[in-house]
Amino acid sequence: MMNNFLYKHRFFLSRRLVQIAILTAYFGANAYGWSIVSGDLSSSIVFGFIPLSDPFASLQMFFAGAVVSVDILFGVLVVLFFYGIIGGRFFCSWVCPVNIVTESASDLRKKLNLQEKESEISFSRNIRYWIIVISLLLSFIFSLAAFEMISPIGIAHRGIIFGFGFGWTFLVTIFLFDLFSQKYGWCGHICPLGGFNALIGKYSLIKVVHDKDKCLLSMECFKACPEVDILEMVGKESHIITGATCIKCGRCIEVCDNDAFKVSVVGLAKQLKGKL
Ligand code: SF4
Ligand code: SF4
Repeated sequence: MMNNFLYKHRFFLSRRLVQIAILTAYFGANAYGWSIVSGDLSSSIVFGFIPLSDPFASLQMFFAGAVVSVDILFGVLVVLFFYGIIGGRFFCSWVCPVNIVTESASDLRKKLNLQEKESEISFSRNIRYWIIVISLLLSFIFSLAAFEMISPIGIAHRGIIFGFGFGWTFLVTIFLFDLFSQKYGWCGHICPLGGFNALIGKYSLIKVVHDKDKCLLSMECFKACPEVDILEMVGKESHIITGATCIKCGRCIEVCDNDAFKVSVVGLAKQLKGKL
């Protein structure tokens, strides 16, 4: 029974474990001087010598006219290397603290039966890409990293490490927004960091793949996936989930009783073809 539960929720439990472990490591660095990982989600040091720099935050700094140091550039390369292997939006479901808020809102939407009434307020998933452009323009005009100033991701992360102040109001607003507007309204439509990471991790080697021969069209994956547009070929043909916005959450794998999804290593040539 217990084993079944653990297996059924293996991705969810692993993700929460990783998210909490990472936040604990940052918290420990500030509170107790641990040296596993210190800094914040825009710029960190791992084990005291490996820099990690968020590419979107670094690009905003560049547009703002700041001197981007060699350390930051190296940190960007390290992150791009990992995103090239596992996918940029891996950050969303395995690291970002806001993901815990938005998935909780989504689960409550489901319990309150609001899920199906989606699109009372409906907006495009492309808004996030326009916000990237606007953020870079504002960074250039005002000489500051525009999105970083108001980023709920940074606010949540700093709040957990250093104490919240009024930062929690941002998270409550996102929770209520996701609950009453649209399923995954923030992460699936608006957040520019999620959009940026999707763009740079599109051809990552780790992909979710779908096996049509095992698919019995229960459509549970459609209910669970936060980026449902990327599942358009489900049930029609076996294919690689090539959509850049896949957050590698594993929800499709967990909810499919027929094992029609799995994680696989897929080379670039196959990805361009789209089929297995
Ligand atoms: S879309 Fe943005 S807020 Fe949502 S999980 Fe990704 S980075 Fe975090
Ligand atoms: S395709 Fe699967 S792993 Fe990707 S976002 Fe959707 S549910 Fe998550």
